[in-house]
This record gives sequence, structure tokens and C-alpha cells, in this order.
Amino acid sequence: MADTIFKKILDGEVPCHRVYEDGRVLAFLDVNPLSHGHTLVIPKEPAETLDQLSDDSAQAVGRVLPRIVRAVLLGTGARDYNILQNNGANAHQVVKHVHFHIIPKYDDGSGLGIGWPAKKLDSDEAEALAQSIRGAVAPTGVHRAVGK
Ligand code: AMP
Repeated sequence: MADTIFKKILDGEVPCHRVYEDGRVLAFLDVNPLSHGHTLVIPKEPAETLDQLSDDSAQAVGRVLPRIVRAVLLGTGARDYNILQNNGANAHQVVKHVHFHIIPKYDDGSGLGIGWPAKKLDSDEAEALAQSIRGAVAPTGVHRAVGK
């Protein structure tokens, strides 16, 4: 995996406005915030997309994400927020290192805007689909997803 800007931040080659750090996780302010307090939480493990992340790093991120969210809310006065996690260029991922956006949403509308073109679940296909996904859930570890 080629070095990303986040790897350079982790290596101390590029500065950041750090808000949290432990042995497996770093959080810092987004340099182009969608709203006041927009923060990125990244595992130190250089996984490109979430499906490639180890259980240990996933656990470490999951353990501190709500704590960092609470700090963002307290530090900004925001009440509402979105967590955004993009994977793949077609899904708007620009930096190829797993990251979670914490994006405060304010009464003036600043924050994440979402298009949500929902359709109705096809009941004829739903159970076969659920079964196919159920059968693909691995007990632990990273298993390469189809098409990767
Ligand atoms: P994504 O589209 O999910 O890959 O988002 C990548 C995010 O990283 C964007 O919101 C960028 O503004 C942010 N970003 C890129 N470079 C830096 C940097 N050096 N410091 C902080 N945030 C950055």
C-alpha cells in the first residue's frame, strides 16, 4: 500500500491538530471541515478500507469512537452529528487509509448533507440475500471480499 497523507501524519512527517491518541488510534481535526469540529478518527494500522481492518484495530477504534464523539460535542457545543466512513473511490473515499469522520450538524444546516434515494426491499429476494450475507460472515479476522 502506497503511503497516504494519513501515514505521513502518523509518522510525524505532516502536522495535524491532534485531539486524541493511543497505541492503536489517532484522532485529529479535518483540514477541510464540513462543519465546526469535523474530526477524523483513524486506526494506526495502514488498512485501506474497513473490510481490510484487523479485529484488534477495529476493536480499538470502536472502543474510543464514542468517547471522542463526546469530546467533540463538549468541545464545540454541538448536539447532533453524523459518523461517515467512506470505502472506495466510487463511495467518495479520497484518502486510502481507513478513517471515520465525526461531523457535527448544526441548526444552521452546516455539516453533512445526505442524499438518501431509498427503494423498497424486494420481499421475494430479501431472504436469499440475507442468507447469502449471513453465510459469508466469518467468525473472526480479515477475509478478502469479492472484487477486492
Ligand atoms: P474521504 O473522502 O472520506 O477520503 O475524506 C478524507 C478527508 O481527509 C477529507 O475530509 C480531507 O479534508 C481530509 N484530509 C486530507 N488531508 C488532510 C490532512 N493533512 N489533515 C487533516 N485532514 C485531511
